[in-house]
Amino acid sequence: MSKPTTPAENPQLKDIVAHAKEYGFVFQSSEIYDGLAAVYDYGPNGVELKNNLKRLWWEAMTQLHGNVVGIDAAIFMEPRTWEASGHVAGFNDPLIDNLDSKKRYRADVLIEEKAAEYEKAGDPARGAALTAELGRLLTANDLAGVKQLIIDEKITDPLSGSSKWTDVRQFNLMFSTQGSAVDSDAPPVYLRPETAQGIFVNFLNVQKSARMKIPFGIAQIGKAFRNEIVARQFIFRMREFEQMEMQFFVRPGTEGEWYETWKAARRRFHEALGLPAEKLRFHDHDKLAHYAKAAVDIEFEFPFGFKEIEGIHSRSDFDLTQHQNLSRKKQQYFDNDIDESTGKPYGNYVPYVVETSVGADRLFLATICQAFQEETITEGEGEAQTTKQRTFLKLHPAVAPIKAAIFPLVRKDGMPEKAQQIFDDLRFDFRLVIEDKDAIGKRYTRQDLIGTPFCIVVDGQTLEDDTVTVRHRDTREQTRMPISALRAYISEAVSFRRVFEKL
Ligand code: ATP
Repeated sequence: MSKPTTPAENPQLKDIVAHAKEYGFVFQSSEIYDGLAAVYDYGPNGVELKNNLKRLWWEAMTQLHGNVVGIDAAIFMEPRTWEASGHVAGFNDPLIDNLDSKKRYRADVLIEEKAAEYEKAGDPARGAALTAELGRLLTANDLAGVKQLIIDEKITDPLSGSSKWTDVRQFNLMFSTQGSAVDSDAPPVYLRPETAQGIFVNFLNVQKSARMKIPFGIAQIGKAFRNEIVARQFIFRMREFEQMEMQFFVRPGTEGEWYETWKAARRRFHEALGLPAEKLRFHDHDKLAHYAKAAVDIEFEFPFGFKEIEGIHSRSDFDLTQHQNLSRKKQQYFDNDIDESTGKPYGNYVPYVVETSVGADRLFLATICQAFQEETITEGEGEAQTTKQRTFLKLHPAVAPIKAAIFPLVRKDGMPEKAQQIFDDLRFDFRLVIEDKDAIGKRYTRQDLIGTPFCIVVDGQTLEDDTVTVRHRDTREQTRMPISALRAYISEAVSFRRVFEKL
């Protein structure tokens, strides 16, 4: 059996969802009205974690690569953009309804889950054959064939066990809204289903204004919207989400090399952030999207199994050529490098594109799933020995919402003032909190639950010699050090450099 994918059915995911809510990471949108399906809000700790992940990605793209620049395009685009990109005609998912449970499913997902079951049961060949057959049917748009496959494989509704299925039909995932306040016949404008097209339509603006030479990339972080059919996996599949995409424009014929380069680079990024190598894998696409020459997913092992967090796609010159044709504006680049085979410049061409596309929310979910740790700890010695459970978020310090918490041991004798002095000095460099309520142990627990890497305790000795103890989240060990050493010590641990050095 494949692992249950919904919080209600998967205890580990359920714990993470509850933790995310209780400690201010993720809330259901409009919860007081019982929520809006597959839409979520980020709380005070969630927004910090997400912003840190986004900033890391942004800097890894635009700061570490001299030939990658960023843009921030609008969500609304001229509707013809989505005709050119193929989304109006082809951005569909095959949908199937169960007549007994009245639940709606993605037919391809039901079949993929069956294939995963074969794989788990030790028959990977059968799983692979099933996935290949699905790919063949979808490429041929043979929806009757997809339904027949569901029947032949005896796939039943995961909730009710029923096998009474409707026919499979295509469902367009784009949201649209009224485009004009004055002309009710004006075509709808779409809420972009991917950020990539904002990059393509700006290709020449960016190339010219930033004087970019091929090969070069354009990076963007922004909201995307998809009317997902099955959306029961917390922030894994949302209707409003955020993408971090980079389109890398290359000379035709070199796209294969760049595809391999970016594939490896993007995997290193996830490992550098702390996702273990054995929980990451590549998954080649069996069914290529209408624009793709080659495509691979980087999958992470979530509590509900290996699932995509990022896609790397070799998109050929599809998008730029489509925009060139529909807009009647040339989307060409003049390459004055010399082609050794002819001795002449490469000249004008429509560049090829290799894309890396990662969901900020999926990266967030992977990060928090990996960080969520429960351990049994033993305290005291001999008869006084006790054991207790500890839950903590083992986040990479570079992305932790709060870098250090400062605790005056007691609320007197000048300790709160000393704590405040440390806070006032370090707040220019780091996000910190001061906590003076409850026993120290309780305060440590509260910080462990949100993944704060360091707790700084101001005690009696601090007042005598200006030293503090620094308690480490993962080991619970304490180190005594001068207040003057804190900045360098924390900087060293939380610096993005620690991640970038591994890329
Ligand atoms: P899936 O097969 O899971 O629907 P996809 O192949 O359609 O994903 P892409 O179009 O390649 O996804 O989008 C790139 C990235 O955007 C994905 O790897 C994922 O991280 C993110 N993403 C896509 N759809 C969603 C969604 N509904 N909610 C959250 N993130 C998403």
